[in-house]
Amino acid sequence: MKFLSAKLAATNEIIMAEDLFKQVISHSKEYGFVFQSSEIYDGLSAVYDYGQQGVALKNNLRDYWWKAMTQMNENIVGIDTAIFMHPTIWKASGHVDAFSDPLIDNKDSKKRYRADVLIEDYIEKVRGKIAKEVKKATKRFGDSFNEAEFISTNGRVVEYYEKIKSIEDRMRVGLDDGNLGDIKTLIEDLEIACPISGSRNWTDVRQFNLMFDTDMGSVTDDSSKIYLRPETAQGIFVNYLNVQKTGRMKIPFGIAQTGKAFRNEIVARQFIFRMREFEQMEMQFFVKPGTEMEWYETWKATRMKWHEALGFGSESYRFHDHIKMAHYANAAADIEFDFPFGFKELEGIHSRTDFDLKQHEEHSGKKLQYFDPEENKSYVPYVVETSIGLDRLFLGVLSKSLEEEKLEDGSSRVVLKLPAFLAPSKLAILPLIKKDGLPEKGHEILNTLKYSFQCSYDEKDSIGKRYRRNDALGTPYCVTIDHQSLEDNTVTLRDRDTMQQERVSINALETLIAKKVNVSEVLRRL
Ligand code: ATP
Repeated sequence: MKFLSAKLAATNEIIMAEDLFKQVISHSKEYGFVFQSSEIYDGLSAVYDYGQQGVALKNNLRDYWWKAMTQMNENIVGIDTAIFMHPTIWKASGHVDAFSDPLIDNKDSKKRYRADVLIEDYIEKVRGKIAKEVKKATKRFGDSFNEAEFISTNGRVVEYYEKIKSIEDRMRVGLDDGNLGDIKTLIEDLEIACPISGSRNWTDVRQFNLMFDTDMGSVTDDSSKIYLRPETAQGIFVNYLNVQKTGRMKIPFGIAQTGKAFRNEIVARQFIFRMREFEQMEMQFFVKPGTEMEWYETWKATRMKWHEALGFGSESYRFHDHIKMAHYANAAADIEFDFPFGFKELEGIHSRTDFDLKQHEEHSGKKLQYFDPEENKSYVPYVVETSIGLDRLFLGVLSKSLEEEKLEDGSSRVVLKLPAFLAPSKLAILPLIKKDGLPEKGHEILNTLKYSFQCSYDEKDSIGKRYRRNDALGTPYCVTIDHQSLEDNTVTLRDRDTMQQERVSINALETLIAKKVNVSEVLRRL
């Protein structure tokens, strides 16, 4: 969470990252963004509901992604496939046999962890030590400091890097070979302790399949077992020829889809970062074999640009190349985001080769080849995938937008500086008082502007309180209707971020606001 706006930084309080995360969670609940699922029954672990504000923000985020994919690219189309699919699909895709995480329990706290995450957290601590050394040296050497040279020559830093490399190598070999005993030994060698009990009393590492299953039809036996999809991608693969033929698509082309996915996550403690039911936005791009690396690089850059257009600064993102590749990929990178609890995966970009389509050919017995008219031959295309979690994106956007500002008069305000086009309501219409015809004038404005963008109307509480409430909801603009409005058809327009107010004609509102809150302006910057 970015808490300091440059202008007000001097007077702001700095709150520790964990506090900020807690604040995001409580803000989400207090203002109707996210609720714990089944709360009156004490909740259901790692499942969440979106409230009246949250659903609007989520829809706007999805819309931004959807339009960036399908509206901005003439060779990308969207589909919507079912959550239930033939169970053999998950056998073919490798999920039945290999979609699992290595888990380990601490015998004292009885807490369960992902073994790879424990090791990655350890590596992150070593990286933190490197960052500290660099910071110290920057201070010591001032302007003459050469970071690249320092990193490659400073004894301590070089040692840290070697340590990271050796841990990563051991982890990769252990996971690739399925040698879980080696992963446990690595955890023991690094003396990793349970964050809860502080002890190193670990069980063996075991693989745990993340797919939920259920039964279809009235008979419960093995043949009726189906899975809740753990990713939306397979719905695209099994439909790719339907879309290609009916849409007369020529390679390279893409198919986009958004929808629910389900994973029985081992550790699900970080609010909507890791859920058991979540929403993905995936795009599979079908290319000629041999061109996949070019497209992989293109999509990495394209997706980064899409994120950066949100305006949270390029320092909020970084690429992370995978150490352990999924069974289907020949190249994979994450776009990591600076969440309140550190840099974590937000989106994956994977070169999936022809693995999935070939597997589906084999298991279904149907040909899934594309006839390339330019080459005059048929082949199974290669696929580059971009895959992002909508809920994670939501969390990232909310965290970066939430600020607590101390104002010059000594008071403070909580403001959600959402990019205007994402805000649940773009304009709050606020009659100064509840009488004298001001509410009627307010509704008149609402009934004119509601065709162009989402507006809200509020006449409860003092105007100051209503401004604060709309700041906290992220509403970029408020208009206040007063007695003068009835005389000269003007209102006060207040800007959420600057808190500046100006008198404008009611007739000018639509043009003034629409341009600033329209997603098309952001799409233009891509
Ligand atoms: P992680 O390593 O964090 O478990 P992953 O590599 O398994 O994620 P992918 O299979 O690449 O994730 O899924 C694509 C995207 O879906 C992720 O980048 C993430 O944004 C989102 N995602 C995956 N699992 C979850 C989850 N349990 N809850 C919310 N979003 C998720």
